[in-house]
Amino acid sequence: MAAGPTPVDPFILRQLSAETEVRARLLHAEASTADGAPTELMTMVEQAVDGLRDELVAASHDLAANPEVAFEEHRSSAALADLVEAHGIGVTRGAHGLPTALRAEVGSTEAGMATIAILSEYDALPDIGHGCGHNIIASAGLGAFLALASLGDQLGGRVVWLGTPAEEGGSGKELMALDGAFADVGAAIMVHPFTYDLADSVFLGRRQLRATFTGIPSHASAQPFMGRNALDAVNLTYTGVGLHRQQMPPTDRVHCVVTDGGQRPNVIPERAELLFYVRSEYPQSLKILSQRIADIAEGAALMTGCAVELHWDESPPYLPLRTNGPLAKLWNSRYGGRGRDMLPAGVVSGTFAGSTDFGNVSYRLPGLHAMVKITDPEKSLHTREFAAAAVTETADQVVLDSAFALAAVALDYLSDAELRRSVAADFDQAGGVLDVPSYFR
Ligand SMILES: [Zn+2]
Ligand SMILES: [Zn+2]
Repeated sequence: MAAGPTPVDPFILRQLSAETEVRARLLHAEASTADGAPTELMTMVEQAVDGLRDELVAASHDLAANPEVAFEEHRSSAALADLVEAHGIGVTRGAHGLPTALRAEVGSTEAGMATIAILSEYDALPDIGHGCGHNIIASAGLGAFLALASLGDQLGGRVVWLGTPAEEGGSGKELMALDGAFADVGAAIMVHPFTYDLADSVFLGRRQLRATFTGIPSHASAQPFMGRNALDAVNLTYTGVGLHRQQMPPTDRVHCVVTDGGQRPNVIPERAELLFYVRSEYPQSLKILSQRIADIAEGAALMTGCAVELHWDESPPYLPLRTNGPLAKLWNSRYGGRGRDMLPAGVVSGTFAGSTDFGNVSYRLPGLHAMVKITDPEKSLHTREFAAAAVTETADQVVLDSAFALAAVALDYLSDAELRRSVAADFDQAGGVLDVPSYFR
């Protein structure tokens, strides 16, 4: 037995102070000296996006009408790949080891030119179709890529377009990253539909835990004293996690379901199991929370005389989202330039937070995951109402505006070495590259 209480990790306290300092510094930040891309090129990109309007809107509606869930996006990825080929650009189907992933590239990296990646998601949700609006992500990302491709030799760098399956469970981007999808890429950008326009939003890291308890079965009436009850261990774990909630920072989340609670009332359950999602705003706080949940499950096992096996992350964990400051600022200027009402970070409540596998990308290289407003704040992602909102005229205009702004940010990045330096410096200041596969081991 430990001699004293388990030590409390002061990480959250330090992190909250550090964030306050960053916000205070931003209030007095000097204007950037970066110029971005030349105006003539920007005008060409704008015209190219306008010329793609019919194709992009058709692609968005086509995906919405034919939703496919994670790893099964065969029709969707084929439709997008066909569109790339129709513009005379080669595309790799089944890229990076995933049958429904795509990759296409334009431009070059001669003479030290830079590379940026633009990402398209296209998986849907069971039963409710494109309730996360990934049809918009797919079409906007592809539109940006095709518009940039039309610049030919004037692009001044390389653009990689990645079709990334299985965001809604499965962590497609992590699997692609492990296969080298982001090797030699300087930054990665994408959009996601939402109920507000903001470049910098909160997404929580997410791990899965399967806690399997093993007891000793016995006749529940005749010889209960000969048993060890695995369901009791589940009950105490659930209760212990519930009590722990008071000590959690408000940005931590734990939710679980009982996936096995025994077979019959007249047999003391030999086996019982809980499946958890454990979420937090930072990799380090997610690690701390994971340890607390593990301790609670082990304590419950000890109390009931059961054994417990903890199986973490049967599919890769999702890291929290880290937004690159200069890329977010640029997005606000380019997307805001289309008449959008951009909200600074911290204005929209961080409580509306889910998770995204783009988080894993954002801890490998500078990332932008901009949220784009397609409907009013009362609506919620992952509903049939949101799926309907993803194919309106408002949503179609968002596809166009997002395609332009993604292309504009990419072009700024490729054109402006000073901007690239500030993007890289911001990434380093935020902690630099995190070794994602080994982080939770
Ligand atoms: Zn979603
Ligand atoms: Zn989504």
